[in-house]
Amino acid sequence: MMKRINLLLIAGVLSVFVACKKGGDTGGDGGGTGPKPTEVVYKPNTIVYGSNKYVTFKVGDANSPIILASPHDGELTPASMPLRDHKDAVTVRDLYLTLLTEEISNALFAKTGLRPHVIFNDVARSRMEPNRSLEEAYHKSEAANALWREYHAFLKGARDMVQQNVGKGLFLDMHGHGHTKQRVEVGYIVSRTNLNATDAVLNSVPATSSIYHLAKNSPYTFSQLIRGDYAFGTLLANEGVPAVPSKQDPKPEQDDYFNGGYCTLTYGSRDGGTVSAIQLETNGSNLRNTPAQRKASGAKIADAIIKYMKNHYGLFPNVN
Ligand SMILES: [Zn+2]
Repeated sequence: MMKRINLLLIAGVLSVFVACKKGGDTGGDGGGTGPKPTEVVYKPNTIVYGSNKYVTFKVGDANSPIILASPHDGELTPASMPLRDHKDAVTVRDLYLTLLTEEISNALFAKTGLRPHVIFNDVARSRMEPNRSLEEAYHKSEAANALWREYHAFLKGARDMVQQNVGKGLFLDMHGHGHTKQRVEVGYIVSRTNLNATDAVLNSVPATSSIYHLAKNSPYTFSQLIRGDYAFGTLLANEGVPAVPSKQDPKPEQDDYFNGGYCTLTYGSRDGGTVSAIQLETNGSNLRNTPAQRKASGAKIADAIIKYMKNHYGLFPNVN
């Protein structure tokens, strides 16, 4: 990997830098000529792999504002990464999420001419957990920790590209739930209590959300951004993909609902930056369980993303 990165450093034309954490790459840095910390340039429209190709970064177009990631659909079980058997470790796989993410990416490219940045992990969640902090991932080996760092270096690299080249953007962290209600759970890190509260209460908590940068610069109230006419969940439902929260289904109430995890929190804009993040917890039935469903829902989700970018970012003005 390092050799490839060094080549990219020479070939790269964009001033996009990622500070590699020490220990984030196996095999060491054979170059030794670069400044410290190592600055990585990701070349647009290339595929960059982590060690053993366990994690992949499909670098999108230089001016793409969109990042998609699929952390939980891996099935590889490297011997160097023993089973995460801690009592608090969640190990269930998000089945077909990488394929669904690819469908969304392809539909976005077909409609906008811009390839989004796409990151995915092929190692089983039972061995490496990208969507928790390293402390709460309960890995059983340094190899799993190193892979976690590689995955996060890719996410950070994508976010930095968007911030530098576009100025603002949207990260969608793609997941799958096994809950009874067949609807997409749209997560902004906002608590269930606040989502179930009145619009007035919701309007007082944009700073708790992973779309804080968007909210700060929006003419819409925060409750409108969560369950108004142009909320992400509403745009999904308008495409025929039921979602909560949305205008059609405003509150999770006491039903099963995920409000977003570590990656949405870390690479969204709650704590700064200009990339906002939304976690999409997709249902299986009618959405992702068959190739035909994934193709159809991938196109619908892409349409919702495009409408969201038009309404809230002023991007893709000429895309229908
Ligand atoms: Zn997941």
